[in-house]
Formats: sequence, C-alpha cells, structure tokens
Amino acid sequence: MEGSPPGVWERALEFLEQKLRPSQFHTWFQAIDCLEVDDRSIYLAVPSRSFRDWILKNYRDVLQEAVRRSDGVERSVEFVVRPLPKVPPRPPEAPPKIHNQVLLNPLYTFENFVVGPSNRLAHAAAVAVTESPGTGYNPLFLPGAAGLGKTHLLQAAAHAALVARPDANLVYLSCEAFVNQFISAVAKGDLESFRYRFRHVDFLFIDDIHFLARKDRTQEEFFHTFNTLYNAQRQIVLSSDSPPKEIPTLEERLVSRFKWGLVARVEPPSFETRMAIIHSKAKLRGRELPQSVTEYIASRIETNIRELEGAINKIQGYAALVQKPISLGMAKEALRDSFAPAREATIADIHNEVTNYFDLKPADVLSRKRSKSIVFPRQIGMYLARELTGLSLNQIGEYFGGRDHSTVLYSTDKIRRLLDSDPLTQETLESLRKKILGNA
Ligand code: ADP
Ligand code: MG
Repeated sequence: MEGSPPGVWERALEFLEQKLRPSQFHTWFQAIDCLEVDDRSIYLAVPSRSFRDWILKNYRDVLQEAVRRSDGVERSVEFVVRPLPKVPPRPPEAPPKIHNQVLLNPLYTFENFVVGPSNRLAHAAAVAVTESPGTGYNPLFLPGAAGLGKTHLLQAAAHAALVARPDANLVYLSCEAFVNQFISAVAKGDLESFRYRFRHVDFLFIDDIHFLARKDRTQEEFFHTFNTLYNAQRQIVLSSDSPPKEIPTLEERLVSRFKWGLVARVEPPSFETRMAIIHSKAKLRGRELPQSVTEYIASRIETNIRELEGAINKIQGYAALVQKPISLGMAKEALRDSFAPAREATIADIHNEVTNYFDLKPADVLSRKRSKSIVFPRQIGMYLARELTGLSLNQIGEYFGGRDHSTVLYSTDKIRRLLDSDPLTQETLESLRKKILGNA
C-alpha cells in the first residue's frame, strides 16, 4: 500500500467491526485485503466472485459508509478477485473453488442412468437443476428407499453441473460427512471456516439428509446454511430415505423448507426398467447376459438395484471361473445361495393348498375361467409360486392355465399391492405359507 493514504482500510475495518455482528465481520471482512487506495477508489482483494457478489448484495452500503468515514474522501469500492486470500488471524479455510470431483464416482453419470416410470420425474428434475440452477426446483429433494439410485442421480447432476459450469463452486458430500465436519469445526472452535466452506457454494449436494435426524445442533447449522444459499439462489439438492415430514425429529422449519422446491420420489423400478438396468450394467462390465438370465434376475430381485448389480457380479464372476458362456442354468447355480427360499415348495403343493383353502376344484385354478372367486386364488397361487419355488415366470404361467410371463407379473404385483393395505390378504398368505411349507 505504498503511496496510498495510510490507514484508510484499517479505519474502515474498525467501523465495520462496530457496525456488524462479530460473525459477519469475521466471515466477510477479515478475508479481504486492501490492495490500493487512491483519491478516487479503494481496491479490495476478495477470494472469489461469489464472495464479491455476496458483499455487494449484503454489505454494499455499510462498506461504502465505512470507506467514506475513514478520511472523509468519497471513493468507489473496487473488487479484485484474487484466488488466494491473505491469511487472517483466524483463517477461513477458503479455497476459492471447492470441487469435490474426486469424490464423485465416474460411473454415476446421467448417461449410465436408466430412466423409467419409477424415476422419470426425479431424473428430469436432476437434469433441470443443472441447466438452470437455483431458480426452478430449489431445493430439489429426492426421497426413496435404499438402493434405488439416489446417490447415482445426485452425482450425475453434480457431474453435469461441473460440465455446464466448470468454474462453479460445487460441494457434494454425504450428510454424515457434513455432520462430522460440523462437529469437528465446533470442537476446534473453527466454525468460521466451516461456514465459509458451505455458505459460498453455487451448488450444494447433500446425500442422505435423513442423517440429520436427532442431530439438533447440526440441524440448526444446516438451517442457516440452507437459508444463506437459498436466498442467494444457489442450488441445493438433497436425497433422503424418506420424505421430509417422515424424517424423525427433523425441525418443522426444515421440513417446510425441504418442500419449498420439488420433492420427487424415486420409486422401486418396474420389471421392464429392471431388465433395462441389468442390461446396461452387464454391458458396462463388458459381458452381456442372455435374455433369459436378465429376465431371471429381474423377476427375482424386485426392490433394490444394488442387489441386481450384486447378482450380475456373481454370475459374471462364476462364468469367468468356470470359463463357460453364461446360461440360465449357470445363473441359477451362481445365485443359488442368494435367493433360495428358506424352504422350497413345489408348485403342486401350492396348487393343492390354494385349492383346499378356497374350497375350489383343482381344475378351476388351472383353467382359464375369469370369475372373481377363481381369479383371486389363482393370483395368490402365482404369488406363492414365485416366492417359494425356483420356477421362472413363464413356467409358473404355463402351470396356471397356459398364461404368459406378463400375466404372472401382473398377478403378483396385484397381490403385493393388496398386501400393503389388506390385512385379510396378509393372513391368507401367512396361513397358506405355513401349510405349504409344512408339506414341503
Ligand atoms: P441409493 O443411493 O438410492 O441407495 P444408489 O444410487 O447407490 O442407490 O444405487 C445403487 C446402485 O444401483 C448403483 O450402483 C447405481 O448405479 C445403480 N442404479 C440405481 N438406479 C439406477 C438406474 N436407474 N440406472 C442405472 N443404474 C442405477
Ligand atoms: Mg445412496
């Protein structure tokens, strides 16, 4: 600052320190370096554009006043973005860009994400927030059960955001990491750096936000992080194992904020989507599977895509071991331990018990009759056959009156839905299961 009026910035800082709350002063003004002062301007170095924008948005007037008061000269305040901030007494650990790319799985891209009815909305929204961040769906909140692709979607959006805006400040992390970093910041008495890190981002992706359950202090902290980013129109994307209001002990004000933008559930994939995912994953691993094997896996693993992948791995590993082409028989062999039921039953046992239970003629259950009193028991039979035998969809359909696999799928889906809502169906199945396994 040779040649410039001494002390202008120092006096301005004194004024700011009096005017502002300590946290505001430390976070925003201690990181600023005065580069130059002349009669007309004062040149201040700030660590990033977003930092500058924030100051202009929130502190323009008080800063102007502080500069004017220091020696009575009217100067314009000019900002110079200089990536490395000076080292203040309590240094905000302030890399101007916080790319956590290293932590992104390179395979979790939109390209590798199979879109189906179960995830179409979530996918579309994830694409949208990378195209117009901060303005449309903010926050984007993606609830869904484990293994349905939430992490994949979040990371795909993070990848895409970095492609679209390579110089964006982007933070992607698990909620657990957020909680841990908060706790250690509190322990070190270094909340300033923590806040700096999270309140200056253009994109904040937090995976598994339900981890905030029962963590009051972190919830409080996150609340402020959220507000800061939201007000600055920075994009927030969150995933969770449940919708906002079902996260235990989540403060009401967070629940309501999580619903401000878009809540797009990720649902369990349909049979067709599971087929497409298996196909895509097998291909990514460099070894495609025959259609029959794909169908076998898709019909056996219904809710968790991570398990679908596990099954593919087992089959491909097994094939490599025995050095033979993959066949349905081999797939069954490779997966024998994975989903063998506790006890196997034969389809004839099932048929027999269903017939007795509903007091029908054995031939009716296997006929093509469509009356309600027969259709329901037949659907129950198909459901149990899928659960308790190793037969394929087509084999089960064949047995129950020469039907195809789609009828079997339809029937079992229908029973599964009933099971969610109807205690009578639950009881029916429970007692049939006992009888069948007792005979098996
Ligand atoms: P979650 O975070 O919901 O528990 P993940 O995102 O970890 O689930 O997904 C589990 C696995 O399933 C990952 O390997 C992911 O790539 C894969 N997966 C999930 N959904 C899809 C999809 N629609 N297309 C392709 N792969 C998917
Ligand atoms: Mg996950």
